Amino acid sequence: MRALYIGRFQPYHLGHHEVIKQIASEADEVIICIGSAQRSHELENPFTAGERYLMISKSLRDEGILNFYIVPVLDVNWNAVWVSHVESLIPPVDLVYTNNPLIERLFKERGYEVRAPILYNRREYSGSEIRRRMLKNEAWEELVPDAVVTVIREIGGTNRLEDLKRRDE
Ligand code: ATP
Ligand code: MG
Repeated sequence: MRALYIGRFQPYHLGHHEVIKQIASEADEVIICIGSAQRSHELENPFTAGERYLMISKSLRDEGILNFYIVPVLDVNWNAVWVSHVESLIPPVDLVYTNNPLIERLFKERGYEVRAPILYNRREYSGSEIRRRMLKNEAWEELVPDAVVTVIREIGGTNRLEDLKRRDE
């Protein structure tokens, strides 16, 4: 059984990590799509697809999890063809995991079985909360796997966010 999981992972955090660990233990393979792959250097989407790829692959490998494939997916801004677009990039999957109502709707209409993973500590394990903390200089490191802290330090991620907030005044 091959399962699909989709997110923007801006950044990859412990909520995503718990869900993917669970899926990886149940499925033969997990396909992880990095959505909005073309977006980076924005306050809502600070990290590139390659940086997000590193965060996910290092975090899973640190746990000894190897049955995953990561596929970056560009936005097409055309909901009616979006599932076909994803299908053109990934191996065939039997099951889709998402908490996003639009993604659920689009895949169900194409005949897929869709399941909603449970949300872990959603108030804190949230991309928006982590980006907010980075900008306020609050502790965000406890909300992501250790490998993500390493990647974000390596690329100067918090400085990047601060620069994105500055305006040319
Ligand atoms: P943002 O605040 O930037 O939207 P996010 O935390 O919602 O970030 P996404 O990449 O948008 O992360 O979400 C990908 C998937 O992960 C979505 O289906 C989302 O519901 C799910 N998800 C997000 N946070 C958690 C969590 N704490 N536990 C389980 N699943 C989560
Ligand atoms: Mg989200």
